[in-house]
Amino acid sequence: MAINWIESEVIEHIRWTDSLSSIKLKGNVLPYTAGQFTKLGLKINNEFISRPYSYVSSPDDDYLEIIYVTVPNGTLTPALHDLKVGDKLHIMEKASGFFVMSEVPDGKNLWMLATGTGLGVFISLLKTPEPWDRFKKIILVHGVRTKNELSYQEQIRKFETDHPGKIKYIQTITREKDMDCLNVRIPQGLETKEIQERAGIEITLDSQIMICGNPDMINDTVALLEKSGLKRNRRSKPGNITLEKYW
Ligand code: NAP
Repeated sequence: MAINWIESEVIEHIRWTDSLSSIKLKGNVLPYTAGQFTKLGLKINNEFISRPYSYVSSPDDDYLEIIYVTVPNGTLTPALHDLKVGDKLHIMEKASGFFVMSEVPDGKNLWMLATGTGLGVFISLLKTPEPWDRFKKIILVHGVRTKNELSYQEQIRKFETDHPGKIKYIQTITREKDMDCLNVRIPQGLETKEIQERAGIEITLDSQIMICGNPDMINDTVALLEKSGLKRNRRSKPGNITLEKYW
């Protein structure tokens, strides 16, 4: 189906690091569901280039937000990186995707495992009441290379304040040491149970696990979880593991 593109305008450009940024936009898109993705498009050298990005914003926000990594020698992201407040870009009018809470079966605790920009979609989901209403505890695990890539700290503090005792936030950094964080890739941290120990919660057959980010991390994590008897969640056959690969 042809994409209907509409014009949007940059209202804020957040620089987390030299290569990790978030863009806030205003644009008259159709209503979307937290967890869905959109596409952003720009005309570059007379060619229209577009890429998908999950919404970090949630339906009640009065702005649209995405997070992206500037890929050196990439086509779109260096141009996105240069955008300033007031600049215009195209956005897909109707969001898409199934990484939404209505696709996640009920369970006791909800694990949200993210690497890099994969955190963004969980920020969107956690801004809505559904994960908080449906699960006893939420364990948000974010794996990044370096500490300065731990984005959305203020928003996560707000989740902790708004839902006391309900969320465990675990940071893991793989390319530098930090006392406050784990220093392990997510699949290894689950295998050695460092992550579960830090959470004080085990992954059990009544857990639900959502995973988003680096595809190799997702593959390794799914393989590990499947060894413990957890199953991929499919529409035809509900399970425990719901995933979204980013590239
Ligand atoms: P990343 O390389 O995905 O690393 C983020 C975290 O994931 C790091 O802690 C990393 O650990 C870990 N990780 C990497 N491979 C893993 C694996 N096989 N199993 C488990 N954990 C793994 O970094 P990023 O900053 O999010 O993204 C970096 C690059 O990914 C970008 O420069 C870009 O090329 C690409 N990217 C593409 C898109 C896209 O849509 N095309 C979107 C985002 C990113 P280590 O430090 O040990 O590697």
